[in-house]
Parts: sequence; C-alpha cells; structure tokens
Amino acid sequence: MTDAPYLFVSDLHLDAALPEAVDQFRAFLEGEAQTAAGLYILGDLFEAWVGDDDPEPCRSAVCDALRAYTAAGHPTWVVRGNRDFLFNTGFETRTGCTLLPDPVRVRIGALDAFVSHGDVLCTDDHAYQELRSIVQQADFQSRFMALPLETRRGIADRARSGSKAHTSRAAYEVMDVNPDAIRTAFRVTGTRLMIHGHTHRPGIHTVDVEGQACTRIVLGDWYTQGSVLRVRTDGSFELSELPR
Ligand code: MN
Repeated sequence: MTDAPYLFVSDLHLDAALPEAVDQFRAFLEGEAQTAAGLYILGDLFEAWVGDDDPEPCRSAVCDALRAYTAAGHPTWVVRGNRDFLFNTGFETRTGCTLLPDPVRVRIGALDAFVSHGDVLCTDDHAYQELRSIVQQADFQSRFMALPLETRRGIADRARSGSKAHTSRAAYEVMDVNPDAIRTAFRVTGTRLMIHGHTHRPGIHTVDVEGQACTRIVLGDWYTQGSVLRVRTDGSFELSELPR
C-alpha cells in the first residue's frame, strides 16, 4: 500500500471570468484532494486579490470551498503569488489555510524541498523585480490597504493590463527562471529538489550543481486544464495534467 500523496498546485488564477477553472478546482477539492495527506497551493490561486476584506462572490465561494476542505481535517498550506501577495491573516481565517513564507523548506518523508511561487527566481526580468521589491514592502501594502475597496480594484485592474503589456513585450527567456538563481538556491539551501510555479511552463528539469543531480519541478497553470504534482513520503512524485 502506498501512502497518501501530498498534492501541489499553483497558478490557478481563479476569477469570475473563467468559471470553468473555478468549478474544476472545487471538484478537485471534493475529489482527488480528499485522499491527500496535505495540499500545497504555491501562489496565484486567484487572478487578483485586493485584500482579505474583499467580499467579491467568486473569490468568496473559493474561500468557502477551502474552508470546508480544511475544516474536514485536510491541512492546506499557501505560498503567496505575485497576483495574491496581499494574502494575510484574514485569508487564513476565511479559508483555514496556513500561509508560508517564500521561499520555504518543505520536508515530506525523506524529501527536503525548496518551495517557492517562483517569481523571485526570474531575476532576468529587472523591471518586474523592481516592481516586486516595491509591492513586497509593508509600508506600500498598508497604504494600499487603507484605500477604499473600489480604488484598490481599479489599481489591480490597471496593474494586470500593465503586466499583460509587459509580458507581451519581454523576451521569452527573460520571463523564465534564471539558471544561476536556481543553482544558487540549491547550493545555499543544500536541497536537491525544487518545486515552483509562476512561469506556466510545467516540466521536470535536472540541474547539475557541483556534480550533484538536482531536480526542479515546475507546476502548470489552470487556464485551460488543471495541473497537479503528487509527492509521496517514499520520495516518488508525478506531475500530471488534469483534463477539463
Ligand atoms: Mn505568478
């Protein structure tokens, strides 16, 4: 008998504009995830998150589904993405999920993994990293949260348009993780396994770090189908598409 797997997902980008993805995630929570030992959501659960006080119905319904899932005894951990970096204690209260820092060490059985949303590894995108360093500041976040909800929504909409324009202009390689950042993360942490999302380029890569074979697993997004990584305590794992 094999142990129940730990499940990893990321980049669901849930939004009222794409109800198919919302339905698929809720079915996932009520289906496969019921048999999991634990669930990790590695950022960009939502297309946008303008604060834990946002009552928008679609996002509320997802929070309620997560609340039901965690209340049934399923531990669920969440890393903030670049779309939902404003997750805070209110989100934990609404969902029963536990927020993790980024990056974070995750130990499953004998596996010791470096886990991140992944945007911090895309160091070639200087314009984006500059923006990230601003929005990560507590001062910026408290000033943003002091604005009325409608104002915050307007700013988030404009930020998404700006992000789309930027990603359509920037070179394909610039938008991916930087190989030196990957090797440095492995070297500094001493881990041999990395799990992240953000790039929407699912795959399993082997990286040579000073003669050691390390593994980098990239989760896929949920725009047109689902993507899940199953990790078992015996060290085995599989990355699968979830057809819609
Ligand atoms: Mn992202």
